[in-house]
Amino acid sequence: MYPELTGRVALVTGGGSGLGEAIALRLRQTGTHVAIADLHASTAHAAGASVGCLALDGDVSNEEHVAGFVHATYAAYGGIDILINCAGIPDTFRPTVEQDVASFRRLVDIHLTGTYMMCKAAAPFMLEKGRGSIINLSSIGGVLGLTPRNAYSAAKAGIGMMTRTLACEWASRGVRVNAIAPGYILTPFAQRLIDEGKLNLQQIRRRTPAGRLGSTKHVADAMLFLASDQSEFVTGVTLPVDGGYMSWGASSDAFTGDVPVPPESST
Ligand code: NAD
Repeated sequence: MYPELTGRVALVTGGGSGLGEAIALRLRQTGTHVAIADLHASTAHAAGASVGCLALDGDVSNEEHVAGFVHATYAAYGGIDILINCAGIPDTFRPTVEQDVASFRRLVDIHLTGTYMMCKAAAPFMLEKGRGSIINLSSIGGVLGLTPRNAYSAAKAGIGMMTRTLACEWASRGVRVNAIAPGYILTPFAQRLIDEGKLNLQQIRRRTPAGRLGSTKHVADAMLFLASDQSEFVTGVTLPVDGGYMSWGASSDAFTGDVPVPPESST
């Protein structure tokens, strides 16, 4: 579908699971060289083996590890054309007065500072070539107030704004920076929150105009478009991939129909 992606090089953080693993696989299927980077070596290497790509392990909130991801990708494939920042963790879901500052900082370090450091480290290779596409992960939580997820929401809102400022800084030099704001997408991240009782599946379905959670395929489809030359004049946007979640403003349920069974799948 996007033949220009064949032979290009992508680095995907958080590529060991969920959205990162899904886009890594889709890019491999288009002939893109892919490196995934993930926190745990076992997760990274298992996904690397199943996707068929370079697997790197380390922490996106650690500047030396970030430099290591970028240099290992360059050493393996001779460039970096696409950077997708998927590494992330959920918030603690604790009321603000009970949330410790260390966990607030950890969330901001991984999501916002990690995204910043990855962009900063990868951009020189793109700017030198005069071409690149960076895709950051925001969230409906970066646009709407999702209580009690202060750190997550603030970090995701920061990612949305940083996406705009970086887009403006690099647009004239061929490097595009966009973000995706997923709604509720069935990945191990969301599944854990459902299992822990922190998310209510039926409430989410009723609050989502599409009446269901999204799949990794929905998000990967949008990422591929933003990575490809088909979005050549698109930069600085935060694209919702949320089944209409953020468009709904009425006080009633957004979806009142029957939820089909099985209603969602993770792919
Ligand atoms: P996931 O848990 O399936 O995958 C996230 C991956 O990031 C994991 O493999 C994890 O090990 C890795 N990771 C965590 N901390 C890291 C670190 N410090 N350094 C390197 N890797 C690290 O989650 P997902 O659902 O695929 O989420 C991917 C991104 O999308 C996250 O930023 C998340 O906030 C965002 N998002 C997800 C949803 C959703 O509903 N799934 C909705 C909105 C936004």
